[in-house]
Amino acid sequence: MKKLFSILLMGLIGLMFTPNGFCRTKFVTIGTGGVTGVYYPTGGAISRIVNKKSKKYHLKVTVESTGGSVYNINAVLSGDLEFGIAQSDRQYQAWHGLAEWKEKGPQKNLRSVFSIHPESITLVARADAGINSPADLKGKRVNLGNPGSGQLQNSRDILAAFGLDEHKDIKAEYAKAVEAPGLLQDERIDAFFYTVGHPNGNIKEATSGRIKVKIVPITGEPVEKLLKKYPYYAKSFIPHKFYPNAVNTEDIPTIGVKATFITSKKVSPKIVYAITKEVFDNFEEFKKLHPAYAVLTKKNMLEGLTAPIHRGALKYYKESGLIKYIKTDLILPRYRKRYGR
Ligand code: GLU
Repeated sequence: MKKLFSILLMGLIGLMFTPNGFCRTKFVTIGTGGVTGVYYPTGGAISRIVNKKSKKYHLKVTVESTGGSVYNINAVLSGDLEFGIAQSDRQYQAWHGLAEWKEKGPQKNLRSVFSIHPESITLVARADAGINSPADLKGKRVNLGNPGSGQLQNSRDILAAFGLDEHKDIKAEYAKAVEAPGLLQDERIDAFFYTVGHPNGNIKEATSGRIKVKIVPITGEPVEKLLKKYPYYAKSFIPHKFYPNAVNTEDIPTIGVKATFITSKKVSPKIVYAITKEVFDNFEEFKKLHPAYAVLTKKNMLEGLTAPIHRGALKYYKESGLIKYIKTDLILPRYRKRYGR
């Protein structure tokens, strides 16, 4: 019995150590969004690239479907998840202690790694509901997004910009994005908002059913004012070719943000370094993993960030020469000298 025990123990120790020292495989999880969005396949793309080198880094990246940006930021900060994907506007708000973080204050442990695809505020309506602008949402049943999602605040910003009260002027729903196309096709809602990269399965599903659907432009004076008020929104458009079954015949103007890859100060620099290096060193391969990445360049993946860049990622950006694209205020003062700032 004693012998058996020591054999088992030796075996276990053998599994945990290699000639290079301690090497137990570390598992880290990326929080994403609904399975029909772009965050979920993005988590998949990052994990696919990094897991090819699992042996080298003793690292396994897994992906979790979640409620979206706000959930991911909070889960990363509490240590429930190591990484998350979050809208750039939500990263800005968490870092500065605004919106959902107003009471908790600035989230100083938040770190950015890189940004990814652009996301557009997408308003999808039943074609026969007479909704040609957000102003026409008055009196309608509208899904704004689930608590925990990034888009809930974007929907609220658009309503406010067009002078609509969430509680008095519309019948607001707070369902998850993944349920919205079904609710629209079942005529249980007239429209829904989704802040998402394009193309994506959710809007394809919404536009491919029995009921004809329109993607509503978000433009005009109220939008110009909104752009002046909030630094994180920028004009964008949704290519109508991605959704040939929608009644639209032209690209749809709207505004948008960026998806960003975030972590916490507490996550090991080695792990953050490994993920950053594998994504950037295999950039062309990564870009092919989703059509929403077509516009990506290494330079624009370092734009749209607010929280300081994690030191593990900085190490890679220095080594690869990409550090020249990084704004000084994204490098914490204590590291600036090391990075020539
Ligand atoms: N932008 C959405 C959110 O933060 C998620 C979009 C997606 O899953 O692609 O809630």
